[in-house]
Amino acid sequence: MQIFTEIESLRAFLSHKNAGQQSIGLVPTMGALHPGHLFLIQSSTAENQVTVATIYVNPTQFNNSSDLEKYPRSLEADIALLEKGGCDALFCPDTREMYAQTSTVKFDFGPLDKILEGEFRPGHFSGVALVVSKLFNIVQPNIAYFGQKDFQQFTIIARLVDELKFGIQLRCIPTLRESDGLAMSSRNLRLTEQERKKAVILFKSLSSANQALLEGMALGDVKVDIQKIWEKEKNTKLEYFELADRENLILLDRVKSANQSIVLIAGYVGEVRLIDNMIIGAQ
Ligand code: AMP
Repeated sequence: MQIFTEIESLRAFLSHKNAGQQSIGLVPTMGALHPGHLFLIQSSTAENQVTVATIYVNPTQFNNSSDLEKYPRSLEADIALLEKGGCDALFCPDTREMYAQTSTVKFDFGPLDKILEGEFRPGHFSGVALVVSKLFNIVQPNIAYFGQKDFQQFTIIARLVDELKFGIQLRCIPTLRESDGLAMSSRNLRLTEQERKKAVILFKSLSSANQALLEGMALGDVKVDIQKIWEKEKNTKLEYFELADRENLILLDRVKSANQSIVLIAGYVGEVRLIDNMIIGAQ
């Protein structure tokens, strides 16, 4: 695997591949890689000749400076994992390379970036759209891979690609989970042993909501039950639990039809903020 920290040298490497008409897959990450990330890499290597992973903890998508500071970083282990996963190139720039000057460019996706994550992390999706646009322009991939775990992010990036005519195909890769159901996440590394056990509360909430909604329980009653589950578990705090249309994330008050609706959740376990989601009826 070749490692690049500069845009120009990555571009030189990729221009050879482009000239040979090789298909390029892009997997953007913030590092602290786990098997969920590797699943994206494998999806890319399965359908492209060249796979480029990026590792960059993007400051413009953090609205909380302590969250940015505490974000786990493990570049050496990440490189070893990517090599093993068959990744061809890694781009791991520093902030001077990505933001030559302080950026004032902002994105506004209307209601889509004001709900769910957007409500609790103002400016987050503008920062995501900015850095992903930069990565798309630098790498010019044929296909880019994102995880369903960050479903609102995927929906926003799909809107971005459509709006700005990037001409890139997107893949939404299913969430890889630990054996108890907890979605794999770099942030799980910050949980204490006790918190790690409690963190299954997100998956439990989604699974029981999925079942209850399929059985016809009213959304209001489901929300009350979920609130109770969280109130019983000390040192946790539910931030939101919502039902939405899978296509456009418009919030719903009842299930549209199986596979067309999604439940999304965010909450704190100790000081660590975790998110997850589940498509209704898909399990
Ligand atoms: P991150 O490094 O957290 O920004 O994640 C990089 C990419 O990996 C994003 O597209 C995530 O949605 C995806 N990802 C994160 N966790 C998982 C998981 N457990 N399963 C599949 N994809 C994931």
